[in-house]
Amino acid sequence: MKKGLLIVFSGVSGVGKGTILSRLMPMEDLNLAYSVSMTTRKPREGEVEGVNYFFVSKKRFIEAIKNDELLEHARFVGNDYGTPREYVETMREQGKNVILEIEIKGAKQITEKCPDCLSIYIIPPSLEELERRLRLRGTEDDETIMKRISKARKELKDIDFYEHVVCNDDLDVAVEEVRNIILEEMNKE
Ligand code: 5GP
Repeated sequence: MKKGLLIVFSGVSGVGKGTILSRLMPMEDLNLAYSVSMTTRKPREGEVEGVNYFFVSKKRFIEAIKNDELLEHARFVGNDYGTPREYVETMREQGKNVILEIEIKGAKQITEKCPDCLSIYIIPPSLEELERRLRLRGTEDDETIMKRISKARKELKDIDFYEHVVCNDDLDVAVEEVRNIILEEMNKE
């Protein structure tokens, strides 16, 4: 069986990655599996353990690093995030195309370890629009929003190493673009 793709899916906080993915995941022909990350961040209202994240203590996170359980890990605005290795490897062996929704430092670690991965970065139409969306989402306080915007400003300068950059201005168009990028990669060779 052909091994599944490893798809690195990134984009600044609030850009709509989650919404795009919720449209892509049910598309059967894409054959996707979503890698649930481990994080030390506290759950937001409505987030479910094992679905959105594995919410763990700092101690458990450090232990996971020591045991080499994580394929990559990074710190983001005061919290740790990492990709459990086993799920990714098992799913790929089963032919599933695994999606890692991760930030840029983790994405760099993955592209170094796995140069044949597919990397996609979602950008907002503008930083003003991003701030508006983050406020609309209402899941973070003012200080955190400003930290995330400042982080976005830095991150956007460093996206050249992604293979594909997609602008999420119109959601339907962005979904279609990402879908086509994945289909094209699946049909290679
Ligand atoms: P949030 O707190 O908004 O859920 O996530 C913050 C950032 O961490 C987002 O850019 C998200 O893509 C990223 N992230 C989530 N899981 C992981 C992971 O396992 N590894 C890395 N490096 N980043 C992650």
